Amino acid sequence: MNTDRLWRHYKFIFKHYGHIEGVSRKTKKAIIGKKMSRKALRKRLAAVVITKDEQSRTVDISDVFCPRCGCDQTRSTGNMTEYPELWVRSYCLRCGFLVCEADNSLEHHALEFPEDNYRIH
Ligand SMILES: [Zn+2]
Repeated sequence: MNTDRLWRHYKFIFKHYGHIEGVSRKTKKAIIGKKMSRKALRKRLAAVVITKDEQSRTVDISDVFCPRCGCDQTRSTGNMTEYPELWVRSYCLRCGFLVCEADNSLEHHALEFPEDNYRIH
């Protein structure tokens, strides 16, 4: 896929405030591709390796995607509080699942919480 064309699709999605529902099927397909099968998603979830570093309190995730549908694309809210505070949430572009949340220095990804049905906190 040519980058310019993909960028056009992205611009279109920004115009729709990051809501995938409002865009054409063609744009949708160009950006998020085909939906993962349940089987492929389970396999991908099982293969995720999470490495926690207690000292720096950082978490490294080998593969980052939406645990509900397997989509790689997210839309970010941008900072929802005032600098120097940081509070950013990223939602799955396909299903709207809360995939990632950064609260000041701590960033949490839904994949860290399999026992909580991948709900953050
Ligand atoms: Zn999703």
